[in-house]
Amino acid sequence: MRKPFVAGNWKMNLTRAEAVALGSALAAKAAAFPAVDIGIVPAFVHLDAVGQAIKTSPVLLGAQDACAEKNGAFTGAISTAMLSDLAVKFVLVGHSERRHVFGESDALCNKKLLAVLNAGLIGVLCVGEKIEERQANKTFDVCKTQLVEGLKGLDKAKAGQLVIAYEPVWAIGTGLTATKEQAQEVHKFIRAELATIFDQSTADALRIQYGGSVKASNAAELMSQPDVDGALVGGAALKVEEFLGIITAAAAAKK
Ligand code: PEP
Repeated sequence: MRKPFVAGNWKMNLTRAEAVALGSALAAKAAAFPAVDIGIVPAFVHLDAVGQAIKTSPVLLGAQDACAEKNGAFTGAISTAMLSDLAVKFVLVGHSERRHVFGESDALCNKKLLAVLNAGLIGVLCVGEKIEERQANKTFDVCKTQLVEGLKGLDKAKAGQLVIAYEPVWAIGTGLTATKEQAQEVHKFIRAELATIFDQSTADALRIQYGGSVKASNAAELMSQPDVDGALVGGAALKVEEFLGIITAAAAAKK
């Protein structure tokens, strides 16, 4: 049985005071959901303050990105050691905005993922197709390439620190959501690929989050799917009641 993992990616939103207030509000409710791993992913500059606000709660602190290099002359970058120092537990790698707005390649995502895992952090590797790729029936090809290239050189012993997020790019921040059938079809494909890359029991133990306009009102049907093990949430994670609604749906679906 995989423990569902629901994480809220706050992206480049919220002032420091707003971020602390949102983290505190969530921390106050999180203990009611022991069957769900709950994570929040503030902007780098708010990690310290939000980390302090949630430190006595079960809420996991995440970062939106990390540098693949350990330290040195990399102006503007943040290392995995700096993140660990702030009690960060997991890091998003290859979010579609990093790939498609900032131009990150599969090779760079792979380097970042290995750096994150080698630092003892959880790495959430995000994969997913653009609308034109889905329309050209390339969804499986795109996800396979992002998995195979993204997971290159990953020691199976580190797979316990890995989470995959399937995030169809056309569903991110658009209000469009994959149907539960579309989500399940790709999640099942991803798990089969993971079995090829690692082995079946490793693949069976790995969590695959769905992301793309998840909200309280559609979470239950997405979470009802056997290979959907939680959610990576953007916009709806900025409202505490919406986010709690998604966590509640995950807890109920995976009982
Ligand atoms: C995301 O950024 O990972 C995401 C899924 O965003 P949204 O929920 O807003 O579509």
